[in-house]
Order: sequence, then structure tokens, then C-alpha cells
Amino acid sequence: MGPPSARRGAPVAGSLEEYRRKRDFTKTREPAGTAPAPKIAAPRFVVQRHRARRLHYDFRLEIEGVLASWAVPKGPTLDPAVRRAAFHVEDHPLEYFDFEGVIPAGEYGGGDVIVWDAGTWQADEAGDPPDAPKALKKGELHLDLKGEKLRGRFILVRTRTDAQGKEQWLLLHKRDEYAVEGWDPEDYPRSVLSGRTNDEVKAGPERLWHSNLPPDQASVTLKDPGRRRLSEDERAELDTFGAAGTWHLFGRELHLTNLDKVLFPARAGEAPVTKRDLVRYAGEIAPIAVRYLEHRALNMHRFPNGAGEKGFWHKELPAHAPAWVPRWDNPEAEPGKSRTYLVVDEPAALVWAANFGALEWHAWTSRTDNPHQPTYALIDLDPGERTTWEDLLVLARLHRTALEHLQVRGQPKVTGRRGIQIWVPIRPGPSFSETREWTEKLSRTIGAVVPKLVSWKWQVSERSGLARLDYTQNALNKTLVAPYSPRPAPGAPVSAPISWDELDDPALEPDAFTIRSVLGRIAEKGDLFSSVLHSGQELPPIG
Ligand code: MN
Repeated sequence: MGPPSARRGAPVAGSLEEYRRKRDFTKTREPAGTAPAPKIAAPRFVVQRHRARRLHYDFRLEIEGVLASWAVPKGPTLDPAVRRAAFHVEDHPLEYFDFEGVIPAGEYGGGDVIVWDAGTWQADEAGDPPDAPKALKKGELHLDLKGEKLRGRFILVRTRTDAQGKEQWLLLHKRDEYAVEGWDPEDYPRSVLSGRTNDEVKAGPERLWHSNLPPDQASVTLKDPGRRRLSEDERAELDTFGAAGTWHLFGRELHLTNLDKVLFPARAGEAPVTKRDLVRYAGEIAPIAVRYLEHRALNMHRFPNGAGEKGFWHKELPAHAPAWVPRWDNPEAEPGKSRTYLVVDEPAALVWAANFGALEWHAWTSRTDNPHQPTYALIDLDPGERTTWEDLLVLARLHRTALEHLQVRGQPKVTGRRGIQIWVPIRPGPSFSETREWTEKLSRTIGAVVPKLVSWKWQVSERSGLARLDYTQNALNKTLVAPYSPRPAPGAPVSAPISWDELDDPALEPDAFTIRSVLGRIAEKGDLFSSVLHSGQELPPIG
């Protein structure tokens, strides 16, 4: 099984060149198309129904770490009497395998795409392992498909190569037990991934593919985090509990306690926020929040007696945590210091933390597999007592302008208190001292433009109430509050991602989004922070 994938160790120099050539990667130094091939038993195939300038089906076979691709205008068929023209096109990166969504107009292949069929394939070629690349070169490939729609033996034959080197092939189905007379792909218009049609995906895409970006950055998730959300049954079970109960969610069992305890004082005109509200929110937000927490140690800011009392940092995972709770042992922990950390690698782990009284979630800036290499440069606009919201917006907009000029991608969020942070995703490599230095340079340059707004004094008492552009959290085991984390304040505000445009929205407030309102905002606008999940960015020199 899987002979072509077994050959994947071999270099594939040049096979993605055409893909790169048609797209403009000049804006980044990231090598394009370097995703490691996943370990799989058999190579995969995918057929995407793609409405670009013309409707066609993209027929793609995983061969030697890329997707060998043909555009089939009328689509593949099980009808053995029909031969379909198939135009050999450039190899596509494996990242494209499960892409379903919209390619923005104006970019290469602009239109809508569904995963029309997918599965595994096997070449029927001589050799052990069978030599699919050789058969491709020769111009005749016999293959067995195991998809949801396409099954049985297909043959791809090259019929001509034109003067520009464009290859025309034929795709046909053998007369075997899977053959079906009169079978038309247009009769089966739904995605095998989502059950949706091209029209439905176009109306509400969950992903964008920027074909002018390198493959590891090209996909942008819009609304669906790709993880299952709480089910209606899971939601309903929580409401059946009194003060305690065992919640079954995300395949785990969690014993919840003190559910009616008030954890956040009420805001005017609202009910106070109970622990039940908090664990419910943790369950609702977890599939999205996990994207920013996974593979990272979590420092928990606990307020077991509620936000009205002083909280404390809790880093060590307690011995009573259930065995399934994901964790990480810091190999560099000093004796007597925190060693075993919670790692929210799955949604239920966040609900566990909420039930443990962790009102505030602070994930490390580095991942557990590489603790000394941050994946973000963090910009923290920290208001002083005299800093007005308008002042803070001025500082945030100046950072926006600076990042634009530097061609650096960052994403802002309000803190849920009075501040704004900007997270700049980077390709791991630089040390914390390097990201700290870069952030300091950026912020000092900006601060010099508005010296009346900013203090560089360390002591709060010496800052005369001015704002601080705090670069010092770019350090090992120092953290900023995670996206979507609640904050210990009346009404349970959350640190909510915002779009850059919202800095110009007079209605924007730093603490307006709460655990009661932010889910509706996500349903409407999507997860505005997801651009930080696409790293691969290098920080340009400043000054
Ligand atoms: Mn296409």
C-alpha cells in the first residue's frame, strides 16, 4: 500500500515551480510548499468542483509529496462509454488537499471550490513499489480509486502535448463492477466534506484560499474553527444540574461544582455571572480558543471566590486533575517551582480550567516543543490613569500605520479592561530577547511621535498617569491574556479580537464584549484573530 508516498523522501525539485510561478510569493521569504507529507497508509486523491472563469473539476492525485493535477471540464464519470478531456495543470501543494471555500476574485483561480470527492488511490503499475511517477512521465496511468463517489479502475492517458508544453489527457473508467452507464457527476453536486453545494459555499464560505500567498499561509479560516462545537444535548445537560453535576462534553466527563456561585458581579441592568455561565462559555468558546492555547503551557489566573476578590496565579496542574487532562512537564523547572502545566490541547481541558476557578487564561508565547522560541511578538498598549480611550486609539492607529509600512501582519484585540494589544505572528527562530528588542524599537519609534502620551518609566508611580508601551512581556513564561479569555471584572468582559478598521469605529470600547455577547459577535464576524495562526513571518529590521 502507498507506494508513491513511500517515495516521498526523494527531492521533488521543480515540481511546484509552476504553482509558484503563477502566484506571487515575492512579498515573503517563506519557502513555499514545504509542508511535511503526513504519514498515511495510502496516497490520497481529491476532486474539487471549482467554479472559476469556467466550471471544471480538479482531479488531484497525491504523488511524491505534491498533488499532481488535471482540470477536467466535464468532470470524472463512472460511465465506461465516456472519455473525458483532462488538462494537465501544475502540481498543487498538499495544503490544498481539503480546501473548500472561496478564492478571492482577482487571484489565480478566483471562484468557489468544494471537495466534491476524496479518498485514497492505488496505482496499478509494474514495480514494487509501483512506479506512479514513471507512469505519469510515460503518459499512461492505471489507478484504482476508493472515494465516496468515484470507485474502481480509472485510466489516464496523455493524448497530445501542444507547442507550449500543455498536455491534454483523457480520463476514463474501465468496465468493471463499479462502472455505471449514464453516470453524470453533476447529478451529485454536494461536497463530501460539508454536504454543501458550490452555491452554498459561495454564500457562506468557511475558508478563503489566497492563491497569491505561499501554501502554508494561503488558507484563512473565516467562521468555522474546524472543530466541533457544543451539541444541543451537551448544552441541555448543563441546565439540568443543580449546584453540581457530571457534564459529558467533547467526549469527556467533567465533575462540575458550585455552579450557582456568583463569580463576576453584575453590570448595571444585568444579572450577575455565575460559575455555570462561565463553564458554559468555556464550552462554547473552547473549540475556537483552543486554536490559540494548544501546544502551549497555560498559566491560570484563578479567582475561586470570584472576581470581587483578589486572584492568584496558579501554574502547577493539581494532582487531582483527571488523567485525560493534557499536560506538559517543563524540563527546566527549578526545584520547588511549577513543573507540570496544563496544556489546552482539547476543548474539554478549557472547561476543566474554568471549573477549577481559572477566570483568566494566559497561554505561553512559545510552544512546549520549543519554549525558548516565541511564535509572536507582543505589543501591549497599557493605558495609565490619565490615558483616555482616545489617546489609546491614537497609539493603536500609529502602530497600525507602522506595521503597514513594514509590511508586517499583526492582529489587534481589546483587553476586556482598558487596553489594546497587537499580536504579531512570527516564524519560530528569534529568541525572546530578539522579539523584545524588535517590539521595543517599534514602540519607542512610535512613542517618539506622541511623547505627551507615553512614559518609559518602569514604576507606575513615575509614569505621571501616561500610557506604557510594554514590550517586556516578550519573555519566557511571561504572558498576555489569551484571545477570548474572560477578565475578572463586573459582567465578565472578554479580551476580544477586533479588525483594524474597528479602531476607527466610534462605538468601539475596550471592555464592551462579554462572555454573554462575544459569541454572537463571532457568529456574525467570524474569528477575527485567526490570521495570527498563519505564521511564517520574519520581523524586518527597524531603523
Ligand atoms: Mn481549478
